[in-house]
Amino acid sequence: MAEKLETLAVHGGTAPDPATNARITPIYQTASYVFDDVDHAAALFNLEVFGNVYTRLMNPTNGAFEGKVAALEGGVAALATASGHAAQFLAFHTLMEPGCEIVAAKKLYGGSLNQIGHSFRKMDWHGRFVDADDPGKVAAAITERTRAVFIESIANPGGVVQDIEAIAKVAHAAGVPLIVDNTMATPMLCRPIEHGADVVVHSATKFLGGHGNSIAGVIVDAGTFDWAASGKYPYLSAPNPSYHGKVFTEAFGNIAFILACRALGLRDLGPALSPQNAFYVLTGMETLALRMERHCANALHLAQWLQNHPKIAWVSYAGLPESPYHQLARKYLGGKGGGVFTFGVKGGYAAGIKLVSSVKLFSHLANIGDTRSLIIHPSSTTHRQLEEAAQIEAGAGADVVRVSVGIEHIDDIVADLAQALEQI
Ligand SMILES: *Cc1c(COP(=O)(O)O)cnc(C)c1O
Repeated sequence: MAEKLETLAVHGGTAPDPATNARITPIYQTASYVFDDVDHAAALFNLEVFGNVYTRLMNPTNGAFEGKVAALEGGVAALATASGHAAQFLAFHTLMEPGCEIVAAKKLYGGSLNQIGHSFRKMDWHGRFVDADDPGKVAAAITERTRAVFIESIANPGGVVQDIEAIAKVAHAAGVPLIVDNTMATPMLCRPIEHGADVVVHSATKFLGGHGNSIAGVIVDAGTFDWAASGKYPYLSAPNPSYHGKVFTEAFGNIAFILACRALGLRDLGPALSPQNAFYVLTGMETLALRMERHCANALHLAQWLQNHPKIAWVSYAGLPESPYHQLARKYLGGKGGGVFTFGVKGGYAAGIKLVSSVKLFSHLANIGDTRSLIIHPSSTTHRQLEEAAQIEAGAGADVVRVSVGIEHIDDIVADLAQALEQI
C-alpha cells in the first residue's frame, strides 16, 4: 500500500476501470444508474447498501477524485462538490442550526468572509470573526451557540499561517470541531488532520486542479470527532425523519458527518460536481507534488527579489525567514510558504494599477493556483466595494498587490515584473 504523498497523488483513489479495464478513470457522463432489482433499489434508498443512484448524489468519476483527496489528506472519506464555496456550505449546513455561530478567522479568502458574514445570516447562522493569530481570542469568542471553528491553513491573500494545533485544542476544549480550508497549502505542504483538524475543505479550483480550467470543491472527514457526545449536532445524532428516523452517528459511525453531507446536504441542496470537471481535477492532481515544489521555489525566489527592489515597500511571504509567520511555516508547511503572496508597491493605488496593467507574462485576473503566473490589485478589484479602513483590515490596502506564482521559468517571471515595475 502506497504511503508517500507523491505516489498517492498519482495512484490514490484510482484503479483501472472495473467495467472496461480502461487505465484512466473514465468520465461517467450519466445522470442515473440502473437498479439490479426492486430490492436493490429499496436498499439503496434506505442507505442499507452504498451504490450508484443518481449523479447529484454520487458518480464514479467524482468518487475517484474523493478517494484521491481523502488519501492525500489522511481522512476517512471525502465528498466532491460543485465548488469550494459549495464544500463550505454543505459542511456548515450539516453542523449549524438557526441561531448558531461559527467562530472564524478574520483573515480569510474574501468570498468566505461574504459567505459566512452575509449570506449565512439568511439562515440565521452567524459568523464571529476573530484574530486567529491569537488562539486565546478564538477561545474567548466561542459561546454555547458555537458549532464550528473555521480557519485557513495559509490565509488568502497571503503570508499568514495559522497555528492549527493550538486552535484545534481550543475548539476541542469547547466541544466543537475545527474546520480547515487547506486550499492554499494543499496536502503537499500541510495535512491539517495530523494537527487536530476534524474537517478539511478545499477549493479544488486552485492548486489541486492546478490548471485554471474548472471549478470544483471537496470536503474531507477526519472521522475522529464525536458528534453525539455534546448533543449539539442533532442532524447527525437525532433520528432523521427523511430516512425513517435513522440516526446517522449510530448507523454510520466515523463516517456519519461526511455521509450526512452527501445523503442530506448534497441530496437536498444540490451543488453536485460535474464528472467532467472531476476528470480535469483528477488529471491535474497527478502532478500536484511537482507543481507545488515549483510554485514554492519560484515564489520564494520572487519574494526575495522583490524585497530588494527599490520600488517595493514590503513583502509578506511566510517562506521568507524574516516573516513573522516563518516559525509556523516551519512547523506546519515544512518551511515553505506556498505559491501566493502579497507585496506593497511604493506609490500606492496609482502604482498598483500601473503595475498590473504593465505585465505581459502574468495574467491580470481573479484566481490563484494556476500553472500560469497571476496578478491582481485587490483594492481596485476584489475588495473595491470596501471602505478604505476595511480594505486595510482585510490585507487589501491601496498599495497591495497579490501574485500567484506559476511554474514557468523563474527568470521569465522576474523579467516580467522587472519590466512592469520600470513602467511606474
Ligand atoms: C477560491 C477559494 C475558495 C472558494 O472556492 P471556489 O471554488 O471559487 O468556490 C475558498 N477558499 C479559498 C482559500 C479560496 O482560494
